[in-house]
Amino acid sequence: MKKVFIKTFGCTQNVADSERIRAYYWEKGFKEVNNWQEADEVVINTCIVRESAENRAWGFINVISNFQFLISKKKKPKIIVTGCVVGAYGKKDIKGVDDWVNINKFLVWEPIRAAAAALISISTGCNNMCSYCIVPKARGKEVSKTLVTVLTEIDKAIELGFKEVVLIGQNVNSYGSDFNTDSWVHMGKKRIKSRFPELLKNVAKRNLNKISFVSSNPWDFSDELIEVITKYKNIDRLLHLPFQSGNDEILKKMNRAYTKQEYLDLIKKIRSQISDVRFSTDIIVGFPGESEKAFLDTVDVCKKVGFEIAYINKYSPRTGTVSAKIYENDVPMKVKKERWVILDNLVNKK
Ligand code: SF4
Repeated sequence: MKKVFIKTFGCTQNVADSERIRAYYWEKGFKEVNNWQEADEVVINTCIVRESAENRAWGFINVISNFQFLISKKKKPKIIVTGCVVGAYGKKDIKGVDDWVNINKFLVWEPIRAAAAALISISTGCNNMCSYCIVPKARGKEVSKTLVTVLTEIDKAIELGFKEVVLIGQNVNSYGSDFNTDSWVHMGKKRIKSRFPELLKNVAKRNLNKISFVSSNPWDFSDELIEVITKYKNIDRLLHLPFQSGNDEILKKMNRAYTKQEYLDLIKKIRSQISDVRFSTDIIVGFPGESEKAFLDTVDVCKKVGFEIAYINKYSPRTGTVSAKIYENDVPMKVKKERWVILDNLVNKK
Protein backbone atom coordinates (compact mmCIF):
# COMPACT_ATOMS: atom_id res chain seq x y z
CA MET A 1 0.00 0.00 0.00
CA LYS A 2 1.37 3.42 -0.90
CA LYS A 3 1.94 5.90 1.90
CA VAL A 4 1.36 9.63 2.16
CA PHE A 5 2.61 12.19 4.67
CA ILE A 6 0.72 15.50 4.93
CA LYS A 7 2.37 18.54 6.49
CA THR A 8 0.14 21.51 7.28
CA PHE A 9 1.21 25.08 7.95
CA GLY A 10 -1.03 27.99 8.89
CA CYS A 11 -4.61 28.66 9.81
CA THR A 12 -7.81 26.65 10.41
CA GLN A 13 -8.67 27.04 6.74
CA ASN A 14 -5.48 25.12 5.92
CA VAL A 15 -6.28 22.49 8.55
CA ALA A 16 -9.67 22.01 6.87
CA ASP A 17 -8.06 21.86 3.45
CA SER A 18 -5.65 19.19 4.70
CA GLU A 19 -8.63 17.07 5.68
CA ARG A 20 -9.68 17.19 2.06
CA ILE A 21 -6.18 16.26 0.96
CA ARG A 22 -6.40 13.32 3.36
CA ALA A 23 -9.74 12.27 1.88
CA TYR A 24 -8.31 12.57 -1.62
CA TYR A 25 -5.49 10.17 -0.74
CA TRP A 26 -7.80 7.76 1.06
CA GLU A 27 -9.86 7.51 -2.09
CA LYS A 28 -6.68 6.73 -4.01
CA GLY A 29 -5.93 3.90 -1.55
CA PHE A 30 -3.04 5.56 0.30
CA LYS A 31 -2.27 5.04 3.98
CA GLU A 32 -1.33 8.14 5.98
CA VAL A 33 1.93 7.95 7.95
CA ASN A 34 3.29 10.19 10.72
CA ASN A 35 6.83 10.29 9.46
CA TRP A 36 7.72 11.74 6.08
CA GLN A 37 10.67 9.33 5.73
CA GLU A 38 8.25 6.40 5.41
CA ALA A 39 6.13 8.11 2.75
CA ASP A 40 5.97 7.63 -1.01
CA GLU A 41 4.37 11.05 -1.38
CA VAL A 42 4.78 14.11 0.85
CA VAL A 43 2.16 16.85 0.53
CA ILE A 44 3.08 20.24 1.98
CA ASN A 45 0.09 22.51 2.53
CA THR A 46 1.68 25.94 2.78
CA CYS A 47 0.77 29.26 4.37
CA ILE A 48 2.20 32.63 3.45
CA VAL A 49 0.18 34.87 5.73
CA ARG A 50 3.17 35.25 8.02
CA GLU A 51 6.81 35.23 7.09
CA SER A 52 7.61 32.67 9.79
CA ALA A 53 5.04 30.16 8.45
CA GLU A 54 6.33 30.57 4.91
CA ASN A 55 9.94 30.16 6.04
CA ARG A 56 9.08 27.00 7.97
CA ALA A 57 7.49 25.52 4.83
CA TRP A 58 10.57 26.32 2.73
CA GLY A 59 12.78 24.95 5.50
CA PHE A 60 10.81 21.70 5.55
CA ILE A 61 11.07 21.33 1.76
CA ASN A 62 14.78 21.97 2.05
CA VAL A 63 15.23 19.27 4.69
CA ILE A 64 13.53 16.64 2.53
CA SER A 65 15.32 17.71 -0.64
CA ASN A 66 18.72 17.55 1.00
CA PHE A 67 18.18 14.31 2.86
CA GLN A 68 20.88 11.77 2.09
CA PHE A 69 18.64 9.27 0.32
CA LEU A 70 21.56 7.41 -1.20
CA ILE A 71 23.12 6.79 2.19
CA SER A 72 19.83 5.71 3.77
CA LYS A 73 19.02 3.57 0.67
CA LYS A 74 15.56 5.11 0.75
CA LYS A 75 13.94 6.40 -2.40
CA LYS A 76 13.15 10.11 -2.32
CA PRO A 77 9.39 10.62 -1.85
CA LYS A 78 7.47 12.61 -4.41
CA ILE A 79 7.18 16.14 -3.01
CA ILE A 80 3.96 18.00 -3.75
CA VAL A 81 3.50 21.61 -2.70
CA THR A 82 -0.01 23.06 -2.40
CA GLY A 83 -1.83 25.82 -0.47
CA CYS A 84 -1.22 29.55 -0.44
CA VAL A 85 2.29 29.43 -1.93
CA VAL A 86 0.86 27.98 -5.14
CA GLY A 87 -2.10 30.38 -5.09
CA ALA A 88 0.15 33.42 -4.75
CA TYR A 89 3.26 32.52 -6.72
CA GLY A 90 2.22 29.66 -9.02
CA LYS A 91 4.98 27.17 -9.83
CA LYS A 92 8.48 27.89 -8.59
CA ASP A 93 11.74 26.43 -9.67
CA ILE A 94 12.77 24.74 -6.43
CA LYS A 95 15.07 21.75 -6.38
CA GLY A 96 13.41 18.61 -5.05
CA VAL A 97 9.78 19.69 -5.57
CA ASP A 98 8.03 17.37 -8.03
CA ASP A 99 4.66 19.03 -8.35
CA TRP A 100 2.89 22.33 -7.55
CA VAL A 101 -0.82 21.71 -7.14
CA ASN A 102 -3.66 24.18 -6.73
CA ILE A 103 -5.56 23.36 -3.55
CA ASN A 104 -8.84 23.11 -5.48
CA LYS A 105 -7.69 19.80 -6.93
CA PHE A 106 -8.19 18.26 -3.49
CA LEU A 107 -11.63 19.70 -2.80
CA VAL A 108 -13.54 16.47 -2.40
CA TRP A 109 -15.22 16.32 0.96
CA GLU A 110 -15.18 13.77 3.74
CA PRO A 111 -14.96 14.68 7.42
CA ILE A 112 -12.41 12.86 9.50
CA ARG A 113 -14.03 10.48 11.98
CA ALA A 114 -11.19 10.78 14.48
CA ALA A 115 -11.52 14.54 14.82
CA ALA A 116 -13.68 15.94 17.60
CA ALA A 117 -15.45 18.34 15.28
CA ALA A 118 -16.14 18.26 11.56
CA LEU A 119 -14.44 21.21 9.86
CA ILE A 120 -16.76 22.52 7.17
CA SER A 121 -15.38 25.06 4.75
CA ILE A 122 -18.23 27.38 3.71
CA SER A 123 -16.28 29.83 1.58
CA THR A 124 -12.82 30.45 0.22
CA GLY A 125 -10.96 33.65 -0.60
CA CYS A 126 -11.64 37.15 0.63
CA ASN A 127 -13.00 40.38 -0.83
CA ASN A 128 -11.45 42.61 1.82
CA MET A 129 -8.18 44.29 1.27
CA CYS A 130 -6.48 44.55 4.65
CA SER A 131 -3.24 46.19 3.63
CA TYR A 132 -0.96 43.66 5.36
CA CYS A 133 -2.71 40.53 4.17
CA ILE A 134 -1.70 38.25 1.31
CA VAL A 135 -4.84 36.08 1.46
CA PRO A 136 -6.85 37.88 -1.26
CA LYS A 137 -3.89 37.44 -3.58
CA ALA A 138 -3.20 33.84 -2.54
CA ARG A 139 -6.78 32.62 -2.41
CA GLY A 140 -8.61 35.01 -4.71
CA LYS A 141 -12.06 36.57 -4.37
CA GLU A 142 -14.56 35.19 -1.90
CA VAL A 143 -16.52 32.27 -3.28
CA SER A 144 -19.25 30.80 -1.08
CA LYS A 145 -20.53 27.26 -1.37
CA THR A 146 -24.29 27.13 -1.86
CA LEU A 147 -26.51 26.78 1.19
CA VAL A 148 -27.61 23.35 -0.01
CA THR A 149 -24.02 22.15 -0.43
CA VAL A 150 -23.02 23.26 3.06
CA LEU A 151 -26.11 21.74 4.68
CA THR A 152 -25.58 18.47 2.80
CA GLU A 153 -22.03 18.33 4.14
CA ILE A 154 -23.32 19.01 7.66
CA ASP A 155 -25.92 16.23 7.36
CA LYS A 156 -23.23 13.86 6.17
CA ALA A 157 -21.09 14.79 9.20
CA ILE A 158 -24.06 14.15 11.51
CA GLU A 159 -24.66 10.77 9.86
CA LEU A 160 -21.03 9.91 10.55
CA GLY A 161 -21.62 10.64 14.23
CA PHE A 162 -20.27 14.18 14.60
CA LYS A 163 -21.87 16.29 17.31
CA GLU A 164 -19.73 19.35 16.70
CA VAL A 165 -18.99 21.37 13.58
CA VAL A 166 -16.75 24.32 12.85
CA LEU A 167 -17.77 26.53 9.92
CA ILE A 168 -14.67 27.91 8.26
CA GLY A 169 -13.90 30.77 5.92
CA GLN A 170 -11.61 33.80 5.78
CA ASN A 171 -14.59 35.95 6.60
CA VAL A 172 -17.46 33.62 7.51
CA ASN A 173 -19.93 36.34 8.34
CA SER A 174 -19.84 37.70 4.81
CA TYR A 175 -20.84 34.23 3.57
CA GLY A 176 -23.14 34.43 0.56
CA SER A 177 -22.53 38.09 -0.21
CA ASP A 178 -21.42 36.82 -3.62
CA PHE A 179 -24.97 35.43 -4.19
CA ASN A 180 -26.93 38.67 -4.19
CA THR A 181 -26.72 42.42 -4.24
CA ASP A 182 -29.04 43.40 -1.36
CA SER A 183 -27.27 45.88 0.79
CA TRP A 184 -27.43 47.01 4.41
CA VAL A 185 -25.63 49.61 6.48
CA HIS A 186 -23.38 48.66 9.37
CA MET A 187 -20.77 50.77 11.18
CA GLY A 188 -21.86 53.65 8.96
CA LYS A 189 -20.90 51.85 5.75
CA LYS A 190 -22.96 50.24 3.03
CA ARG A 191 -22.30 46.52 2.67
CA ILE A 192 -23.69 43.63 0.65
CA LYS A 193 -26.04 41.50 2.70
CA SER A 194 -24.63 38.21 3.93
CA ARG A 195 -26.54 34.93 4.08
CA PHE A 196 -24.52 33.75 7.08
CA PRO A 197 -27.29 34.26 9.69
CA GLU A 198 -29.63 32.12 7.58
CA LEU A 199 -26.99 29.43 7.16
CA LEU A 200 -26.13 29.44 10.86
CA LYS A 201 -29.80 29.18 11.82
CA ASN A 202 -30.25 26.15 9.58
CA VAL A 203 -27.16 24.47 11.02
CA ALA A 204 -28.21 25.24 14.61
CA LYS A 205 -31.61 23.58 14.07
CA ARG A 206 -29.84 20.28 13.45
CA ASN A 207 -28.95 17.72 16.07
CA LEU A 208 -25.58 19.18 17.05
CA ASN A 209 -24.12 19.97 20.48
CA LYS A 210 -21.80 22.71 19.38
CA ILE A 211 -21.39 24.94 16.34
CA SER A 212 -18.43 27.30 16.06
CA PHE A 213 -17.30 29.57 13.26
CA VAL A 214 -14.02 31.25 12.29
CA SER A 215 -13.12 33.89 11.30
CA SER A 216 -15.59 36.71 11.72
CA ASN A 217 -14.93 40.33 11.05
CA PRO A 218 -16.43 43.26 12.95
CA TRP A 219 -17.79 44.95 9.81
CA ASP A 220 -20.04 41.99 8.95
CA PHE A 221 -21.31 41.18 12.43
CA SER A 222 -24.97 42.02 11.88
CA ASP A 223 -27.87 42.36 14.33
CA GLU A 224 -29.49 39.43 12.54
CA LEU A 225 -26.43 37.29 13.33
CA ILE A 226 -26.52 38.33 17.00
CA GLU A 227 -30.22 37.34 17.12
CA VAL A 228 -29.50 33.88 15.74
CA ILE A 229 -26.69 33.29 18.24
CA THR A 230 -28.94 34.47 21.08
CA LYS A 231 -31.71 32.10 20.06
CA TYR A 232 -29.77 28.85 19.55
CA LYS A 233 -27.90 27.61 22.59
CA ASN A 234 -25.82 25.10 20.64
CA ILE A 235 -23.91 27.97 18.99
CA ASP A 236 -20.57 28.41 20.73
CA ARG A 237 -20.48 31.41 23.09
CA LEU A 238 -16.77 31.94 22.47
CA LEU A 239 -16.74 34.33 19.52
CA HIS A 240 -13.57 35.05 17.60
CA LEU A 241 -13.57 38.68 16.56
CA PRO A 242 -10.20 40.00 15.35
CA PHE A 243 -9.51 43.68 16.04
CA GLN A 244 -5.78 43.81 15.07
CA SER A 245 -5.15 47.28 16.55
CA GLY A 246 -6.89 49.66 18.92
CA ASN A 247 -5.58 52.77 17.23
CA ASP A 248 -7.70 54.50 14.60
CA GLU A 249 -4.79 55.70 12.50
CA ILE A 250 -3.24 52.25 12.40
CA LEU A 251 -6.63 50.68 11.60
CA LYS A 252 -6.96 53.08 8.70
CA LYS A 253 -3.50 52.17 7.42
CA MET A 254 -4.43 48.51 7.80
CA ASN A 255 -7.57 49.24 5.75
CA ARG A 256 -9.79 47.77 8.45
CA ALA A 257 -13.28 49.26 8.17
CA TYR A 258 -13.89 50.30 11.79
CA THR A 259 -12.60 52.51 14.56
CA LYS A 260 -11.64 51.56 18.10
CA GLN A 261 -14.94 52.96 19.40
CA GLU A 262 -17.00 51.12 16.77
CA TYR A 263 -15.32 47.86 17.76
CA LEU A 264 -15.97 48.48 21.46
CA ASP A 265 -19.59 49.44 20.72
CA LEU A 266 -20.07 46.19 18.81
CA ILE A 267 -18.68 44.17 21.73
CA LYS A 268 -21.02 46.03 24.08
CA LYS A 269 -24.01 45.35 21.84
CA ILE A 270 -23.22 41.63 21.57
CA ARG A 271 -22.71 41.41 25.36
CA SER A 272 -26.02 43.13 26.04
CA GLN A 273 -27.84 40.42 24.09
CA ILE A 274 -25.77 37.30 24.73
CA SER A 275 -25.04 37.36 28.45
CA ASP A 276 -22.68 34.37 28.51
CA VAL A 277 -20.61 35.45 25.48
CA ARG A 278 -16.79 35.35 25.60
CA PHE A 279 -14.36 36.70 23.05
CA SER A 280 -11.08 35.76 21.43
CA THR A 281 -9.20 37.92 18.97
CA ASP A 282 -6.25 38.49 16.62
CA ILE A 283 -3.81 41.35 17.15
CA ILE A 284 -0.86 42.63 15.15
CA VAL A 285 1.88 44.46 17.07
CA GLY A 286 4.49 46.66 15.45
CA PHE A 287 2.53 47.63 12.33
CA PRO A 288 4.36 50.49 10.53
CA GLY A 289 3.96 53.74 12.44
CA GLU A 290 2.73 52.08 15.65
CA SER A 291 3.91 54.54 18.31
CA GLU A 292 3.90 53.83 22.03
CA LYS A 293 0.66 55.79 22.29
CA ALA A 294 -0.92 53.80 19.45
CA PHE A 295 0.11 50.56 21.14
CA LEU A 296 -1.52 51.74 24.38
CA ASP A 297 -4.83 52.00 22.50
CA THR A 298 -4.49 48.30 21.74
CA VAL A 299 -3.74 47.60 25.40
CA ASP A 300 -6.82 49.63 26.30
CA VAL A 301 -9.09 47.52 24.05
CA CYS A 302 -7.69 44.34 25.64
CA LYS A 303 -8.41 45.70 29.13
CA LYS A 304 -11.92 46.84 28.22
CA VAL A 305 -12.98 43.65 26.44
CA GLY A 306 -11.22 41.06 28.63
CA PHE A 307 -10.53 38.58 25.83
CA GLU A 308 -10.21 34.93 26.73
CA ILE A 309 -7.51 34.30 24.12
CA ALA A 310 -5.53 36.60 21.84
CA TYR A 311 -3.52 35.37 18.85
CA ILE A 312 -0.80 37.99 18.75
CA ASN A 313 1.43 38.44 15.73
CA LYS A 314 4.51 40.58 15.25
CA TYR A 315 4.08 42.47 12.00
CA SER A 316 6.22 41.25 9.12
CA PRO A 317 5.84 42.70 5.62
CA ARG A 318 4.60 40.19 3.04
CA THR A 319 5.76 40.70 -0.50
CA GLY A 320 2.83 41.62 -2.74
CA THR A 321 0.83 43.40 -0.02
CA VAL A 322 0.01 47.09 0.06
CA SER A 323 1.59 47.71 3.46
CA ALA A 324 4.89 46.13 2.34
CA LYS A 325 4.90 48.40 -0.68
CA ILE A 326 4.02 51.73 0.88
CA TYR A 327 4.99 51.67 4.56
CA GLU A 328 8.41 51.39 6.07
CA ASN A 329 8.69 48.50 8.54
CA ASP A 330 9.85 51.00 11.14
CA VAL A 331 9.11 49.37 14.50
CA PRO A 332 12.25 47.53 15.66
CA MET A 333 11.91 43.80 16.31
CA LYS A 334 12.95 44.35 19.94
CA VAL A 335 9.97 46.67 20.44
CA LYS A 336 7.61 44.25 18.66
CA LYS A 337 8.74 41.48 21.00
CA GLU A 338 8.24 43.69 24.09
CA ARG A 339 4.73 44.62 22.94
CA TRP A 340 3.97 40.98 22.20
CA VAL A 341 4.98 40.02 25.75
CA ILE A 342 2.91 42.81 27.31
CA LEU A 343 -0.25 41.67 25.51
CA ASP A 344 0.46 37.99 26.06
CA ASN A 345 0.79 38.62 29.80
CA LEU A 346 -2.30 40.79 29.84
CA VAL A 347 -4.58 38.41 27.95
CA ASN A 348 -3.22 34.89 27.67
CA LYS A 349 -1.32 34.54 30.94
CA LYS A 350 -3.81 36.19 33.23
S1 SF4 B 1 -10.43 39.97 6.18
FE1 SF4 B 1 -8.46 41.04 5.91
S2 SF4 B 1 -7.04 39.84 7.19
FE2 SF4 B 1 -8.83 38.54 6.86
S3 SF4 B 1 -8.32 37.31 5.05
FE3 SF4 B 1 -9.45 39.10 4.32
S4 SF4 B 1 -7.86 40.61 3.77
FE4 SF4 B 1 -6.89 39.04 5.08
